[in-house]
Amino acid sequence: LARAYDQYQKRTSSSEAMADELREIVPAGVCSTFRAYEPYPVHARRAEGTSIIDVDGNEYLDFALNNGTQLVGHTHQKLSAAVKEQIDDGTLYTRPSDLLEFAAQPLIDRWEAIEQVRFTNSGTESVMHAMRLARAATGREKIIRMEGAYHGAHDPALVSKMPPVDRAGAAADPTPVRESQGIPESVPENILLGQYNDADSVERLLRAHEGEVAGILVEPACFNLGVVEPENCFLQRLRELADEFNAVLIFDEVKTGVKLSPGGGAEYYGIQPDLVALAKAIGGGYPVGAFGGRRELMSQIAADLNEGVATGAAHYGTYNGNPLSLRAVGVTLREILTDDAYDRVAELADRLAAGYRDVIDDAGLEGHVVTAGSQGMVYFTDERIRTFRDWEHVDEEFHEAYWFGMLNRGVIPHPHDASQQWTISVQHTADDIEVHVDAFADLATHLS
Ligand code: PLP
Repeated sequence: LARAYDQYQKRTSSSEAMADELREIVPAGVCSTFRAYEPYPVHARRAEGTSIIDVDGNEYLDFALNNGTQLVGHTHQKLSAAVKEQIDDGTLYTRPSDLLEFAAQPLIDRWEAIEQVRFTNSGTESVMHAMRLARAATGREKIIRMEGAYHGAHDPALVSKMPPVDRAGAAADPTPVRESQGIPESVPENILLGQYNDADSVERLLRAHEGEVAGILVEPACFNLGVVEPENCFLQRLRELADEFNAVLIFDEVKTGVKLSPGGGAEYYGIQPDLVALAKAIGGGYPVGAFGGRRELMSQIAADLNEGVATGAAHYGTYNGNPLSLRAVGVTLREILTDDAYDRVAELADRLAAGYRDVIDDAGLEGHVVTAGSQGMVYFTDERIRTFRDWEHVDEEFHEAYWFGMLNRGVIPHPHDASQQWTISVQHTADDIEVHVDAFADLATHLS
């Protein structure tokens, strides 16, 4: 790792200087604390197609794609042209227009569970509003979520997001850990922690808190532990449990949505939730989110106000459904993420995974690869990661050496952090995959 850092610092002196300057005026020099890492992040000058060019002029083949937001790649010509045209037609109306149908209909077409949809500006907002709606619809307050999962930056979502295991208690009865100072002590009272891939843990909570649980919040595949797929009918059991206990099943598809399949994790794994929270890839890189679901639920977002209090679940926002974002969603989903595009991406995703597996075997490295749709991840352990408590098997320092080693070879393999995953975009080519695999093969001789 020391050697990788050293090489990195030699190649990125302008990034280092910029980091020093920015830290003076912006906490940690970044606007989302996830983006700060040692010794300092790559500072971007521009992005184009499947590349990022940094402030030192280094070009990187990009498989991080802004946490998978850009399944369409950077600066997609069709998308850029449409958004530029929209700028001339106005960037904000705060009133409905035909763009609402243009963006909403493809989501309704892709998700069986979505009959109605509302737009937001981020995944955080989408999950927050889905949780509120579940509470409003059931008249209950508690939400079950999985320990170690990330669901955005709002208070309840930051309870036990990857907590330090020495403070998290037993897996069977986790102690809620607040991720941040400033989250009121009362917040965990309404959050119950189950374990991903352990439907029994969710059932126990539903029985122990019968009549109190508004919703079960889960990512169909856990994408903040790399790529962790549901096993042993986990999602099917959650569907059945939600029905049995009259709780709302919420899929957080902020990361899985439109990336695992056109209709996200719900289509990929064949289970439909009651509510879906979306963001990221639906907008091709423009700031947008959405949440949708069955009409009976969504219609409880009441428009009428009674002495200043919404009669249903409130949902407000100046930038919600702004024309730029709606145009981006409509063009992304209708014109770019076509069935053909998914087929091409799937083929490249398989090639990348196969390339990694060969390199791991040839170099005698300990490790395995998991892929799902356009997403994939390498784990440098032979242990399967099925749930948060398996994370102890991941050697984060080794992974860090791999990540910086790849950067030094001109490839950003995935967002910084072993808990993330790579994205194959519609603009990647077979040559890009070859460059990525060759870089890994070269690095592997130093890792083994
Ligand atoms: N939910 C999941 C599963 C996420 O991965 C994220 C962000 O990474 C969010 C919610 C929050 O989305 P945003 O960063 O757009 O607020």
